[in-house]
Amino acid sequence: MSGTEGTSGATTGTGAREEGCVFCGIVGGDVPAELVASTDRVVAFRDLSPQAPLHVLVVPRAHHADVVALGAADPATLADLVATAARVAADGGCTAGEHRLVFNTGTSAGQTVHHAHGHVLAAPGASLDGHL
Ligand code: 5GP
Ligand code: ZN
Repeated sequence: MSGTEGTSGATTGTGAREEGCVFCGIVGGDVPAELVASTDRVVAFRDLSPQAPLHVLVVPRAHHADVVALGAADPATLADLVATAARVAADGGCTAGEHRLVFNTGTSAGQTVHHAHGHVLAAPGASLDGHL
C-alpha cells in the first residue's frame, strides 16, 4: 500500500514528530521546559527569552510547520490552541479575554522555530507597548 497515513513518517511535517525539532523535543519530554498548561492536543510552556512579563508559547503536540498548515490539517487543534492561550493569559493575571496572541509565519516574518506556535504575550496591569 502507498497510503499517506503511515505511522512511521517522522519527517512528514504533517503531524508526526519531526527529527531535530526543539518543540517536538519539549512535547516529548526530551527537552526541558517550564510547562504551564496542556491538553490532549496542545502544550503551553514559558519562552526561553521572554519579551514580555508573561510570555508563553502554545504548540500542538503534533508537528506542523506553521499555524496555516496546522489550521488546514487539524482545525480542532488550532481552536484548542487559541482557547488554551486565553486560559494561560487569564491564569497569568490578564483581564479575561484580553491578551496578545502572535503567530510568526515563515522565515521572512520572523519565524525561527518551524513547529507551529502561538506567543501569548501579556503585561497584566500594564501596557504591552514595546513588546514583540
Ligand atoms: P519564533 O521566532 O519562531 O516565532 O519564536 C520562537 C520562540 O521560541 C522564541 O521566542 C524563542 O525564544 C523560543 N525558543 C527557542 N528555543 C526554545 C527552547 O528550547 N525552549 C523554550 N522554552 N523556548 C524556546
Ligand atoms: Zn516539531
